[in-house]
Amino acid sequence: TGSAVGRLLEDLNPSQRRAVEHAGAPLLVVAGAGSGKTRVLTRRIAYLLAERKVHPGEVMAITFTNKAAAEMKERVSDLVGARARSMWVSTFHSMCVRVMRREAKTLGMSSNFSIYDSDDTRRLITLVARDLDLDPKRYPARTLAIHISNLKNELVDAATAKERATNDLERRVAEVYESYQRRLGESNSLDFDDLIMRTVELLQDHPDVAEHYHRRFRHVLVDEYQDTNHAQYTLVRELIGTGKDGVPPGELCVVGDADQSIYAFRGATIRNIVEFERDYPQASTILLEQNYRSTQTILSAANAVISRNPDRRDKRLWSDLGDGEKIVGYVADNEHDEAAFVAREIDRLVDGGEANNGEIAVFYRTNNQSRVFEEIFIRLGLPYKVVGGVRFYERREVRDALAYLRALSNPDDTVSLRRILNVPKRGIGDRAEACVSTYAERERIGFAAALRAAVEGRVPLLNPRSRNAIAGFVELMDELGVLVDRGDDVADILEAVLEKTAYRAELEASEDPQDHTRVENLNELVTVAREFTDLGAVAPVPEEAVPVEDDGVPAEGSLAAFLERVSLVADADSVPDAESDGVVTLMTLHTAKGLEYPVVFCTGWEDGVFPHMRALGDPTELAEERRLAYVGITRAQRRLYLSRALVRSAWGQPSANPASRFLDEIPPDLVEWRRVEPKRSAPSAPTSWGRGSSTPSRPAPTNAGWKNTPAVALDVGDRVSHDKYGLGRVVAVDGSGPRATATIDFGGAGTVRLMLIGGVPLVKL
Ligand code: ATP
Ligand code: MG
Repeated sequence: TGSAVGRLLEDLNPSQRRAVEHAGAPLLVVAGAGSGKTRVLTRRIAYLLAERKVHPGEVMAITFTNKAAAEMKERVSDLVGARARSMWVSTFHSMCVRVMRREAKTLGMSSNFSIYDSDDTRRLITLVARDLDLDPKRYPARTLAIHISNLKNELVDAATAKERATNDLERRVAEVYESYQRRLGESNSLDFDDLIMRTVELLQDHPDVAEHYHRRFRHVLVDEYQDTNHAQYTLVRELIGTGKDGVPPGELCVVGDADQSIYAFRGATIRNIVEFERDYPQASTILLEQNYRSTQTILSAANAVISRNPDRRDKRLWSDLGDGEKIVGYVADNEHDEAAFVAREIDRLVDGGEANNGEIAVFYRTNNQSRVFEEIFIRLGLPYKVVGGVRFYERREVRDALAYLRALSNPDDTVSLRRILNVPKRGIGDRAEACVSTYAERERIGFAAALRAAVEGRVPLLNPRSRNAIAGFVELMDELGVLVDRGDDVADILEAVLEKTAYRAELEASEDPQDHTRVENLNELVTVAREFTDLGAVAPVPEEAVPVEDDGVPAEGSLAAFLERVSLVADADSVPDAESDGVVTLMTLHTAKGLEYPVVFCTGWEDGVFPHMRALGDPTELAEERRLAYVGITRAQRRLYLSRALVRSAWGQPSANPASRFLDEIPPDLVEWRRVEPKRSAPSAPTSWGRGSSTPSRPAPTNAGWKNTPAVALDVGDRVSHDKYGLGRVVAVDGSGPRATATIDFGGAGTVRLMLIGGVPLVKL
């Protein structure tokens, strides 16, 4: 049909269409990668608005990243126009922040609470553990934080944890948990896990509040349902309600793929998918089987790998995009050679017009693997962007600046306040800080109040010099507070912070080049703030026909709104746009979930790297790694590359790595090996896994292994790149086999003669 609704359904297959049109009881769409689950979710929202006359304000959709949320909102706006604005499309965390800001008073909090990330959390736990006299070696803050987080993901509060504790560790954890919660409360702060848990508590303990949300949200939709944990699962249940309060339960639609569950370490459990029909006895399930993303070759590889996992429901995923190109395999000498191969291939694909940079992604298992790619991409001038890693907002100077803003926005935020108390140095030492904090604890007052008491001379044991210094700090914060109170732009407040504290001046005066980078980062933060304000100011908010209620969103462009945005950025939010950015994207397999690229390089397929070392002896972990392999492979649309390095430096030591067992699981006829592991003994049958037949199948990683690895083959005239000397050209080659050497002109770095043994940090370009 030509109608708007008809067009919404036009390019959907019959099962997808059923999922979009389904009304009433809870609906689960389970399907393999690339089968259109996310498309179904987006279309369903559009269909609800267009055909079923649902008001956008009645829709709550939950995605895994803020970026996915923004995209979904945009796609729905394309379909239904500006009306889309009053929908709630967000991550679980952003959604909970909104609820908590609105309902803070009900929970006895003030709505300007701070959100603590894992670093803040660890700081506070360190303080708590110190107060409890715990041995930091036996009970490291990191470990305590993980245990507390796990408890929160299971919705276990401190009192319950205490009751249930059966051993010393559990008792300690419960003890820390209890005072940690108290300190969070005093700081008017919530950690990430609290956002979910407290929202659940709110809905469970306050039927009137719950009823409000039941009336409001008639439709709840969740993407990537396989990665929900128990707390999130419960939150969804509480959101749709049971009908007992007189409001019929909201309509629920969740989509997911148990084979892509990769967040077990955050408490995610596929139980939520597997038991959906038990959780919601009226539920319907729809399966999707056609993949629209990848060629059959790519899909067959993915199916072959994932089918090795035990206890899974087999799905027959197929594609009618044809077989396409074979998967390309490459065995590199070392990680530098692997990166050079990737760079060469990208060059070839782009030059040949097969793909542009923005259509290409490089995946690896852990963030630290990006460095080698970055080095070579920089040398070759290949535009790229690394997603995640040491994130901008995790840098020390950025955190310091944000801590000032947070302490200004929420004076109760103890962690932020203590972070900046003596940054830059102003003569408030650890001892003075301890005096103030002891006083605060004893008097049961906040740290900020204790600082004022110190100025008035009420804090014992504080020497006059410290007291003066504290007075200076309090005065400074009061001065800056004036700007906040009169509603200055965030960027101006930030500028004032950097100015009045002399933070930037100090870095500028430093001899350390790192400090200059820090200045640049701070300037970047000012730019971010400036853009934030400008966007808030110029983007007109279209007026809704139906008035939109106060949604708990801080005023646009305000300091609170800025801090909220900043504390909820996730790795995946910085994934570049293929069209507008035109750069190669580098990221971990975890971050790649839900995305798709015409060309994908999956690198580092070595046992001990991927699957991760930790998983080698643990079937549960290994199954999780295999799901990660499935996620990686299924991101590729047209071309997939799988590579491994014979030798990789880990912790500064080269180690010989065997092929990833996942490579063995891919049918040999799907892969074309560009380079295989050189054979070391008598000729034998052709190898499949790029692995010489004489190689023991799983040699233990050894530091001496590189001596046995093949040489780098070079000819006079070849261009090379060396880790230490940089770019060069080969001027002579001598000897052969293990005695081969090359004389290389590295320009400014001189002419050097190098042995061409495996493991030499040298690659041919
Ligand atoms: P993942 O499991 O990786 O999250 P998914 O199941 O969510 O994948 P989508 O991302 O929704 O899959 O869809 C994969 C690709 O297939 C997208 O490019 C989407 O536009 C396309 N697609 C989905 N359904 C159809 C269809 N019926 N016709 C044409 N293209 C489709
Ligand atoms: Mg999806």
